[in-house]
Amino acid sequence: MAPGQGIFAHREPDGTLHTYVALQRPLDWIAGVEASGPAALGRIAREFEGWAPALTALITDGETAPVFRPIHALPAGHRWQRTPGVTLLGDAAHLMAPAGDGANLAMLDGAALGQAIAANPGDTETALAAYEEDMFPRSAHAAAGADEVLQACLGEDAPRSLVDFFDSAFSTQ
Ligand SMILES: Cc1cc2nc3c(=O)[nH]c(=O)nc-3n(C[C@H](O)[C@H](O)[C@H](O)COP(=O)(O)OP(=O)(O)OC[C@H]3O[C@@H](n4cnc5c(N)ncnc54)[C@H](O)[C@@H]3O)c2cc1C
Repeated sequence: MAPGQGIFAHREPDGTLHTYVALQRPLDWIAGVEASGPAALGRIAREFEGWAPALTALITDGETAPVFRPIHALPAGHRWQRTPGVTLLGDAAHLMAPAGDGANLAMLDGAALGQAIAANPGDTETALAAYEEDMFPRSAHAAAGADEVLQACLGEDAPRSLVDFFDSAFSTQ
């Protein structure tokens, strides 16, 4: 990891090495690289000039075409006025940078919404209000944490900031 960019890899259960390359660049730069077709991997690798060849090989020696995923986020603490008969859950309610929480929160939202509806038979408005009352602070907390992880991984002090992040996480346990 370094300011604005990083290479992340993990081994899948079948032994496949799966690589994510993170680049904080303008959307039109990313679109241009995506449009360059077979040249895309070389263009991405050039952003990592001077990095260890074993790391840049994770970009250049891939066996599948890259998948481009722009990362969007709602502001931490995003909320809305109660609207009768309607609510949101999962990413639609609290889209945040990936930090290991999004799928878990989406499933938790679904379970919490189901519980709220079951606890208020025939009174959907009370159920939706109760669900949102718990969901807003829960997701705001997670979104702030996701921003912190993103900053630790790709901010100005990366990778030192990530080491500090883990140090402080483990020292408080
Ligand atoms: C690179 C990356 C890594 C991630 N890693 C993790 C992780 O390690 N752990 C974790 O917990 N989370 C992770 N996440 C986040 C996680 O993937 C999401 O938070 C989660 O998928 C949100 O679930 P959801 O059901 O709210 O939305 P989605 O999974 O986006 O599901 C929405 C569905 O609605 C469909 N849809 C959209 N529009 C319409 C329409 N008009 N009509 C019908 N269907 C429609 C879409 O096709 C999609 O299938 C990661 C995300 C990214 C991008």
